[in-house]
Amino acid sequence: MIAVSFPDAQHGFSAEEIQNMCFGPEDPQSPRYPVESSGAFYSRSSYGRLNLTGKVYTYTAKYEIDAYTKTNYREPDYRTRDDLLDEALEALDDIIDYNDFDVNKDGILDSVILTLPKEAMIRDPNKDGKEDWVPCSCKYNGNAEHDGVKLARMCIGARDLSNTTKFNSSWIHELGHAMGLPDYYKVITNNPHDQEGLTGLTGWEMMDDAWGDFSSFSKLMYGWFTGNELQIYTGGTQTYELRSLQDAPNCVLIPRGDLDGFHSEYFIVEFNTPTGNDSAFFVRDNRIDLFRQGGVRVLHCDAELHEISSDKMFKWCINSKSYDRTNKKQRVLRIINYRNMYFNDGKVINNETDGFAWYSIIACFELKTVLIRPLRLHRDSPGTMYR
Ligand SMILES: [Zn+2]
Repeated sequence: MIAVSFPDAQHGFSAEEIQNMCFGPEDPQSPRYPVESSGAFYSRSSYGRLNLTGKVYTYTAKYEIDAYTKTNYREPDYRTRDDLLDEALEALDDIIDYNDFDVNKDGILDSVILTLPKEAMIRDPNKDGKEDWVPCSCKYNGNAEHDGVKLARMCIGARDLSNTTKFNSSWIHELGHAMGLPDYYKVITNNPHDQEGLTGLTGWEMMDDAWGDFSSFSKLMYGWFTGNELQIYTGGTQTYELRSLQDAPNCVLIPRGDLDGFHSEYFIVEFNTPTGNDSAFFVRDNRIDLFRQGGVRVLHCDAELHEISSDKMFKWCINSKSYDRTNKKQRVLRIINYRNMYFNDGKVINNETDGFAWYSIIACFELKTVLIRPLRLHRDSPGTMYR
């Protein structure tokens, strides 16, 4: 992470301070828990299977902020975010061996975040009606390399470092993109206040809201389930036990047909509790419960891929040309819930449940019924289990 200041705007924090805010150790007592640290959030979400570490550097750019948002290359001082990344990495080349940030040794820098000061947040010098520095994960189009390491993508954007929880959650979300997940929210032009892709009180998800734990779909895509932690329904009457997704890697997958390496259509049944990464979100320093009582939710997933100039992407994600702007057809992820709440004791999910249907077929005959029963607690288990 490079905290970039400009001649006309500075962060006002040292690299060490930002390092502690962003990549510090896990601390359940922190008032900022569960976004007290990006590394700790990813470690909890992945059950210790992703050990995300990072190092923070500071850099002051040569030109003022607005100099890097020129979009017309004919302008004499035409400079883009790629140029800003080139400039920063070049300047830090003496103190960084970029091979240290290519852990899988594929010759490509694993991930880089350029975080800009809060003064850049509301800038719009190119007058396109959009803030220029909303955090994003984007492609690097230049051809620079440093120490033999090439660049492919970057996370870049402006955030207020004094709003540490928002700062951390934003970069946890963008790093989610850096590792391949799409946004789950909607692209709606007629109602900017209804962008939630996963609706209702149960709809929290890091790639939808930038708050809340990753869902089991996201965890599946990241490869965080192994062996029989992912239980796959194969037909007939079956009984499964679910533990809290915040405590243990587990869920039940109901396939529509051929799984195609999980790049197909299926349902996932999971059990969430208001613990760990699902315990809270923040409005500045105010810690607010994500939800009070946990329960079961069902995710309708369609992870079909298509290829775009030798790159693969989710066919139904918001950046795809196949994306359905009516929001009625396929989406990568939908949520099925009970009156915006979790399914709880005794609830039955069947073809009368809103949304519990495969895409574009009459689904009644093919669909299964999910019956939820609480399971007696073992004394040493961390929460209710469901059957
Ligand atoms: Zn996003």
